[in-house]
Amino acid sequence: MKLSTPVKNLSGIGEVYQEKLKNLNIKTVGDLLYHFPHRYEDFSNVTSISKIKPGEECSVQGTIKQINNTKTYQGKNLTHAIIEDDSGAVKVVWFNQPYLTNVLESGQEVSLAGQVKIREEEIFISNPAYEKMDQELTHTGRIVPVYPETEGLSSHWLRKIIKPLVEEFKDKIPETLPEQILKQRDLLPVNKALKQIHFPSSLKKAEQAKHRFSFEELFLIELLVLRQRQRLNQRKSYQIPFKESRIKQFADSLPFELTDAQRKAAWEVLQDLQKEQPMNRLLEGDVGSGKTIVAAIAALNTAKNNYQTAIMAPTSVLAKQHFKSFSKLLADFKQNIGFLTGDKDKWVSRKLKRQTIEISREKLLEKVEDGQIDILIGTHALIQGSQGKPGGVDFSKLGLVILDEQHRFGVEQRAQLTQGQEQVPHLLSMTATPIPRTLALTIYGDLDLSVIDELPPGRKKVATELINSKEGRQKTYQFIRKEVDQGRQAFVICPRIEPGDEDNNWSDVKSVEEEYEKLNEEVFPDLKVGKLHGDMKNSKKERIMKKFKKGKLDIIISTSVVEVGVDVPNATVMMIEGAERFGLAQLHQFRGRVGRAEHKSYCFLFTTSESDKTKKRLKALVESEDGFDLAERDLKLRGPGDLSGTRQWGIPDLAMGALTNVDLVKKARKDAQSVLEQDPELKDHPRLEKRVESIDRKVHLE
Ligand code: ADP
Ligand code: MG
Repeated sequence: MKLSTPVKNLSGIGEVYQEKLKNLNIKTVGDLLYHFPHRYEDFSNVTSISKIKPGEECSVQGTIKQINNTKTYQGKNLTHAIIEDDSGAVKVVWFNQPYLTNVLESGQEVSLAGQVKIREEEIFISNPAYEKMDQELTHTGRIVPVYPETEGLSSHWLRKIIKPLVEEFKDKIPETLPEQILKQRDLLPVNKALKQIHFPSSLKKAEQAKHRFSFEELFLIELLVLRQRQRLNQRKSYQIPFKESRIKQFADSLPFELTDAQRKAAWEVLQDLQKEQPMNRLLEGDVGSGKTIVAAIAALNTAKNNYQTAIMAPTSVLAKQHFKSFSKLLADFKQNIGFLTGDKDKWVSRKLKRQTIEISREKLLEKVEDGQIDILIGTHALIQGSQGKPGGVDFSKLGLVILDEQHRFGVEQRAQLTQGQEQVPHLLSMTATPIPRTLALTIYGDLDLSVIDELPPGRKKVATELINSKEGRQKTYQFIRKEVDQGRQAFVICPRIEPGDEDNNWSDVKSVEEEYEKLNEEVFPDLKVGKLHGDMKNSKKERIMKKFKKGKLDIIISTSVVEVGVDVPNATVMMIEGAERFGLAQLHQFRGRVGRAEHKSYCFLFTTSESDKTKKRLKALVESEDGFDLAERDLKLRGPGDLSGTRQWGIPDLAMGALTNVDLVKKARKDAQSVLEQDPELKDHPRLEKRVESIDRKVHLE
């Protein structure tokens, strides 16, 4: 048998189980061996029967004195047995397993593990796991692995299948980690670790085994991202010199002073642009921290050197917003700025000397191709039609790509944009999502970070309040009315679009449709109320946002679609229903939609949750305004699985879990670095190379 042997070759695995395993991505014997338990039950302390107590888990071993089947009044099958050891005897009851009398019989030595219960003053063991004592124990009398639950695949079944495999492969698994790392980091060798993670001799050993595999997975991820970075560094970009006087002139043209953080970020970007190595930089900064200016500096400097810049935003609303900002910011700097949308029929225009001129898509593309357009702004679809395809975008000299709210751009994608040319463009990616440190070191480990950790002066703190009472709701509605009377506007965020069925646990979660009806007809019949959600057509969403922005709506009820980038400086109230349904970082993003102008602003978090944990989590938002701090808290409290986007990454579970452990992440990174320094293409580490390749196929980082 080999690690690559398909599971269907194993006895006990027919087609049905094969399908079920497939759902867990388990296709081979190796996959099974690497399917790790997520916790253990410690049945290793076998108790004397005389000492077992109702309400506790017990682990006992003894002789079957008697075993037989009966039926309840309702016709259900019961199996009764008496088990005896040196200290005494106890009754055992199994439900609905009449075949047990064929498996177990009087006189046999058995090991049991289960719950002790009491009924009518009689103590009995209820539905225990059982094993005969004539073989090595798997399910009882030891520390027992519990695997993540999946339909139709019990831990019991998995133990039965995995145990003999662990035996079979006990010294045959090739070691992936270099000897020196094992020693230096004091890690269990793979064969020991594999045995101990499935069938540990102590909980401590199980922990050590888990530690080893966590390290291994982090190490592989580090190798992957660092090697990607290394490959990118072998490509060449245009060296784009810093036009200092121009940039100074631009900074002087702004109606405000740049913050120190903006200056520093801009400087880092300008340094990168001068290098022959492609820039791969992520610019992080809270909503409103002024990332656009930094991007504009980079684009202007690129244009002044006669290279083009492509700017991509996740939605056409945001792309249009960027088009407007850039047109305004660069109005005196004679740049030709193009705006290209994904929808063919939409207008396309070109801004020249403060005038917006509409031209056809074909014309615009021609101008991009012959280099007349300095800055081309659009959605991410902008590049989808590139590379010489009909209707695609061909740049004449693309020097810089700026991405908004998309963190990464593959080396290959980047190269495709400038197909046929030797140079790949520099990349600047911007995000308002605060990235916890461990993620910056792993998932984003191939990107350099610039952080704008300072808001422009004069921004007022958004007063944040947690509310879970009826009176609080009425007060909030009155408050919104008062703000609207003063000419301000409000957001109401709901976790979902439509009301749900009564019988799911979302039934009391507020929906846009319901709240819209209620607020529009009952609470604010005299005000202008609008609604917005992801099921609407883009054009409709845009129309509604425009209305809101122009002040033609007082209140907008919306799902999380307003999360990214929407700028309505006149809005002062952010009311969030079912706040416990959102992550802290996401709530922080919502809050960032208000407080964007001189008006004092407010955020009201509504929750019906009575859980202290939830309240505590939401309180963090009342106390902290620091996006990074909140993201770290999210990571600690909810685990990385709940951070937005992480589910799609396809990162192995153990690595996900380990992503909160800064110390371990740093060690894995350091070791990966030193391996790559000596052996950049992993030629001397073929097994590592293979594992990294397989991770590369599974993991999709964004
Ligand atoms: P972000 O994209 O980081 O959310 P923007 O770049 O859109 O933020 O900037 C938000 C607002 O702050 C814009 O209206 C911008 O003109 C303004 N702004 C940017 N930098 C400064 C600064 N240093 N001082 C004052 N206002 C600034
Ligand atoms: Mg922005």
